[in-house]
Amino acid sequence: MSKISGIRQYIRQLALALAGAWLIVLAAAAPAPAFDTSLDDELLLLVNGKHTLPADYQPNDLVDTAGRAPSKKGVMQLRAAAAEAYVQMMADYKAETGGKVYSISGFRTYAYQSRLFNSKLASRRNSGLSYGSAYKATVMYTALPGASEHQTGLAIDLSTGSVLSESFRNTGAGKWLMANCWDYGFILRYDEAKTDLTAISYEPWHYRYVGLPHSLIIRDNNWVYEEYISYLQENGSIEYADPEQAGCVYRIYRTDDITDEYPGIVSVSSDNMGGYIITTHIDRLDDILTAWAEQAVRGGLIFFGHGALLNVF
Ligand SMILES: [Zn+2]
Repeated sequence: MSKISGIRQYIRQLALALAGAWLIVLAAAAPAPAFDTSLDDELLLLVNGKHTLPADYQPNDLVDTAGRAPSKKGVMQLRAAAAEAYVQMMADYKAETGGKVYSISGFRTYAYQSRLFNSKLASRRNSGLSYGSAYKATVMYTALPGASEHQTGLAIDLSTGSVLSESFRNTGAGKWLMANCWDYGFILRYDEAKTDLTAISYEPWHYRYVGLPHSLIIRDNNWVYEEYISYLQENGSIEYADPEQAGCVYRIYRTDDITDEYPGIVSVSSDNMGGYIITTHIDRLDDILTAWAEQAVRGGLIFFGHGALLNVF
């Protein structure tokens, strides 16, 4: 083999290696597919007096937790994801403290909420309040049908006895839940200092499942759910370092454009406000490589515009 052909072969191999690397770069820079709305798990619905559920809304993955965690009712339904997290939370509470917390109310149908509201309203009227005053007082504690989180199957009311009480906050159970619920994907939904935002009185007994990492983001920002959704609506996204995996982050987006594309989708949920919340999980290194590859593609188009390079040999 002549010296020249040896060099030629070396350069040819180098060119092939470059072409191979180029394919990897192109693959890394390929756009992620638009998110799939059929993945909608409806775990992040915002439900309140302004954003209500239709009368026929009923989740299709309700499971009974009554036999798996202490309950004051024979049946205590929650959606599957919320049920698993709740049963685990109660098991851990019992293991740590030896105490018991009872579930009082889980999933409720629209019709049940309607009867509940009317009966609470009637009893306030019977105690002598005018219709207006009775209505105002009732709506602060009992949501109107369609406006109750209990219809989502993601909310649970808890007590150390058989009734719901504000004094629950001072019990060991109330304090433990307030400190630990977040780690299980639950949030304390109706904060004492934020009744102007929630339009519901302080309810130390009402916990709402939103899942991880959302509960941790809400805890760390000292938000109620309305504030989290507002933040996403105004800013488009939020980032949260994965506490379990160094170098990884969750990036949560809110959008009403279903053609948007996102890398690393973990879950998709409609927000009951006409938008979707997209939860993604990204390795920082992939993130950097993707950004680099995109830049390389832009720069490389010029480079490979002179494509004759590979044909020289
Ligand atoms: Zn409740």
